[in-house]
Amino acid sequence: MKTLVSLAVVAVAGIGSAFAQEGMRPEMSEFYDPKPPVVVPGVELAGGGFTAPSDAIILFDGKDLSAWENTNGGPAEWPVKDGVFTVDKSKGDIRTKEKFESFQLHIEWRIPENIHGEGQLRGNSGVYLQGMYEIQVLDSYNNPTYVNGQAGSVYKQSVPLANAMRKPGEWNVYDIIYTAPTFKEDGTYRTRPMVTLIQNGVVLQYNTVILGTTEYIGFPRTVKHGAGPILLQSHGDPSEPISYRNIWIRKM
Ligand code: MG
Repeated sequence: MKTLVSLAVVAVAGIGSAFAQEGMRPEMSEFYDPKPPVVVPGVELAGGGFTAPSDAIILFDGKDLSAWENTNGGPAEWPVKDGVFTVDKSKGDIRTKEKFESFQLHIEWRIPENIHGEGQLRGNSGVYLQGMYEIQVLDSYNNPTYVNGQAGSVYKQSVPLANAMRKPGEWNVYDIIYTAPTFKEDGTYRTRPMVTLIQNGVVLQYNTVILGTTEYIGFPRTVKHGAGPILLQSHGDPSEPISYRNIWIRKM
């Protein structure tokens, strides 16, 4: 009976919309303003990345780390060479000086060809969204570890949908589309953060709801925050340090 009633409702609604279409012309459901801004796309690079489109904020274009600082507030001192910068584990994490809400982020990273180590101790770094939520960076090419901690995981929360790693020595491309959370007065989430991640053209996270902070030990915590930086992790593992290049961001 319930099904029959539902079908009847759909049928009536259908008739109603059919009536509403009467007298309509194609142009009555078309509009021309406001126009989307013209954005000149970047240039495709060998390996699949794109240089920054015309409206992007450049976070690193190969020259220097002037858009970045150490998380202690001092200058970012990771070495820049040949258009690339490399983690200096003695200096600690770095973050962008600018803070962001929702964004589209492009960032490329490379595990060194001579990498050693196993599991989490092999090319570990990370991209922290709003300085809070880690997208794991790791050599996950033939390197098993807990799957919610492999490359492309929301660390210890969300297993990536695929392993799309390129082998050490080659560049990996992350394109990250992130929706910032909103909070209630009491500091709990009104809407949680959400992320879509594409690595080398393969979707790894698809509208993944982030549960809270990405803790090494324990469960996600809710910490009220506002706009935050992109933070790159200087992980204490003893393996050869990884490199980054071509980083740009578009505010959403
Ligand atoms: Mg990490």
